[in-house]
Amino acid sequence: MAERRIYIDYNATTPLKEAVKAGMIRDLDVYGNASSMHSSGRLAHARVEAARRAVGELLGASPENIIFTSGGSESNNTVFQTMRRLASGPDGRLVSQGRTEIITTSIEHPCVLNSAAFLQTLGFTVHFLPVDPYGKVRLDALKAALNERTLFVSVMMANNEIGTIQDIREITALVKAAGAWMHTDAVQAVGKIPVNVAELGVDYLTLSAHKIYGPKGIGALYIRKGAPLFPLIHGGHQEDSLRAGTYNNIGILGLGTAAELAAGEVHRYGTEIAALREQLRDGLLARVPNITINGHPQEVLPNTLNVSFPGAEGESILLSMDLKGIEASTGSACASGSLEPSHVLMAIGAGPERAHGSIRFSLGWGLTAEDIEYIIETVPPIIERLRAMSTIV
Ligand SMILES: *Cc1c(COP(=O)(O)O)cnc(C)c1O
Repeated sequence: MAERRIYIDYNATTPLKEAVKAGMIRDLDVYGNASSMHSSGRLAHARVEAARRAVGELLGASPENIIFTSGGSESNNTVFQTMRRLASGPDGRLVSQGRTEIITTSIEHPCVLNSAAFLQTLGFTVHFLPVDPYGKVRLDALKAALNERTLFVSVMMANNEIGTIQDIREITALVKAAGAWMHTDAVQAVGKIPVNVAELGVDYLTLSAHKIYGPKGIGALYIRKGAPLFPLIHGGHQEDSLRAGTYNNIGILGLGTAAELAAGEVHRYGTEIAALREQLRDGLLARVPNITINGHPQEVLPNTLNVSFPGAEGESILLSMDLKGIEASTGSACASGSLEPSHVLMAIGAGPERAHGSIRFSLGWGLTAEDIEYIIETVPPIIERLRAMSTIV
């Protein structure tokens, strides 16, 4: 293994920030049940509520509109299952009259795509909206899909693979005008660009701690006042009976600290991380012939750079980079031995060759200009070698 390790896969997960880690270690012995009335319980409860305020502040929301979940996947599933309940009769079956249509996009995270696919099996009609070559949702397609049977719309705020940012405010205005509920998966947007639920107007918003330098297995869901919510997990009265289970107070504290730090740093993130991204993009464009940058040129996360290296294979690039100490990811997922091209790159019309030869660099705090320079020097010979090998065959 190379001595140098450069982690550039922050959209997959982030390391804990030192202050997050220190707070969690300090509180490991705060063992009280946050629902207990005695002093130990009240101490844990105070930590939980402080974290809720911090998450609310990060989103411009009141703390009473935030519930804690086990992460982004659970928050998204809770919204989809709430919608299922809304459209079900007392016997649990889908109603035949009224709103039973769902609109989402073809580039969502698997936890949304598969939640939508599950509701499809129950009889819901699901529209998977196409996106343009930059990954933006086509508003004309949204308008065409919205109708008086639309129950809800779920559109991610920023894409995890290519970083394209959607116009959630405009989309929400269209959705609300059609009388439907609006959810956004903002897991990749939070902490990277300003996110304010009042400005966006959304009914539900999902976030996850481990994408913002907090711990894994904890996240939150914002629910606008007046928007319905049914529990996914039934049990005790935690979270106003909306999410049962003893509070994960150490995880919640970690999320709270991460949220507080993110709120203070989001503007610096937008300049400093974007500068490193530009350095990487310009360096690769200058030194590697015939490459494409995937995603929107301006409306893109400051940290996400998805590059296609046609003629080289994504997994091979990844493994060669790993041997040189660079940890990135491919756009494609390896499913049962066969290499499926990324659904996101296929949706932007990249075609199989560009999709198979794509690498996602996702940057974050801790990376330096020297790290980026090392990547710019290391990647070109790897691509040259892999391209030469593929022409021999
Ligand atoms: C990581 C991610 C999720 C899942 O969050 P978990 O906390 O890992 O369950 C959902 N949506 C997007 C866009 C993500 O990037």
